[in-house]
Amino acid sequence: MTTKTDILIIGGGPVGLSCAYYLLKSGRKVTILDAKEIGKGSGSGNAGHIVPSHIIPLAAPGVVTSALKWMLDPVHSPFGMKVSLDPKYISWLLQFVLACNKSNVQRAIAPLNSLGQLSARNFAQLIAEEKFDCSYQEKGLLFLYKTESAFNGGKHEGELMQKHGIPVDVYDRSKVHEVEPAALDDIIGGVHFTGDSHLNPAVFLKLLSDRVRAMGAEMLEHTPVTGFESANGKITKVKTSAGDFEAEQIILAAGAFTPSVARDLKLNIPIQPARGYSLTMSATKHMPSHALILGERRIAVSPMGDVLRFTGRLEVGNGSTTPNPLWIQRIENSAREYIALDEKLDIKETWAGLRPTTPDGMPIIGRSPNHSNLILATGHAMLGLSLGPGTGQVVAELVNGQEPAFSLSPLRLDRF
Ligand SMILES: Cc1cc2nc3c(=O)[nH]c(=O)nc-3n(C[C@H](O)[C@H](O)[C@H](O)COP(=O)(O)OP(=O)(O)OC[C@H]3O[C@@H](n4cnc5c(N)ncnc54)[C@H](O)[C@@H]3O)c2cc1C
Repeated sequence: MTTKTDILIIGGGPVGLSCAYYLLKSGRKVTILDAKEIGKGSGSGNAGHIVPSHIIPLAAPGVVTSALKWMLDPVHSPFGMKVSLDPKYISWLLQFVLACNKSNVQRAIAPLNSLGQLSARNFAQLIAEEKFDCSYQEKGLLFLYKTESAFNGGKHEGELMQKHGIPVDVYDRSKVHEVEPAALDDIIGGVHFTGDSHLNPAVFLKLLSDRVRAMGAEMLEHTPVTGFESANGKITKVKTSAGDFEAEQIILAAGAFTPSVARDLKLNIPIQPARGYSLTMSATKHMPSHALILGERRIAVSPMGDVLRFTGRLEVGNGSTTPNPLWIQRIENSAREYIALDEKLDIKETWAGLRPTTPDGMPIIGRSPNHSNLILATGHAMLGLSLGPGTGQVVAELVNGQEPAFSLSPLRLDRF
């Protein structure tokens, strides 16, 4: 059986759902296919941080040295990596190491800044227009520090971002305790990115998928894409477990799974999964009043109404979504070093998800170099939620033959 459709979106994570929303708003008909449940993949258990301040890509000077140092501290390291001789993995690592330089940062700042600002504006508008009740708070992202050296590093990064228009406040010891009363006594300072915000991602994604369905999208869950047929520079068939699909345009938004989904397409898509964990608990007695990053430990803290979530670890090359209890415990232990917590936490969920990570730290957004009816929207690494609504808008603009809101050329696949 072959089903014909206008726009076919592969992957119902934050990126695929955002593309669906803006395409539906522009009057297109949309079908979404997901191998599992829509909105439940690597987006639901994440930190929920919406961070237009994150304009420095993961591949930046000093990152390799920091990663090696962290790995010498196996109890607290926020970073890990798979040991494997898989040629694609080795090639990704080499490309990543080579991209950790100033010119990569210079190249990435403009597109990350444009996409981050567009997304932040779209989040505020979408949530207000659709009246989404998802614990959305525009209170910024506050980094807490315990050591002078890390605080100085945070201030330095803040200054760099300020030069690119990102609003930043630096707090000394007394101010940081006034702003965030949940901070423990030995926190010596903070850096506050006041233009950031946060929300409960699982609730947001559920509301967005309900809205997209109500706007008329066909949504097929447990329907993995298994292959493609192409002819004359066009995808002619998308094969799935529920039959074949033909579409005017296809959006590939399968996150960390994109390279395996696209294996028939003869495209070089250098994405590796980077696993991370979260633990979510009932509200604690002294709930933090801000979304936080615990500076030295790189743990994210997200107060979301009646729950509190901690997230952490970046394990490059690890594609399993089973949470590791040892790291879940270590993340909790690290959080206890920074904020006041109940002696016993009422943990409701432990979770692992995969960040779709490119070697230069920028997403891949744009038309396939080999297929006239394929658009890629993937590789958002640690920012897939944050950059979702901006990505959705520019993908809809591409599909509709309009000029995108900003230049997408630095994000094209053929940069690799
Ligand atoms: C611990 C942790 C914390 C994070 N915190 C944040 C944060 O605070 N802010 C932020 O912006 N980002 C955060 N992220 C990153 C964010 O979660 C990802 O960037 C985001 O989920 C990527 O979205 P996506 O839609 O591209 O992919 P996904 O969310 O992975 O969605 C892809 C979808 O494709 C589907 N799929 C896979 N294979 C197939 C197939 N064969 N056929 C059809 N469908 C298929 C999957 O089932 C899935 O639903 C975090 C990630 C982790 C792990």
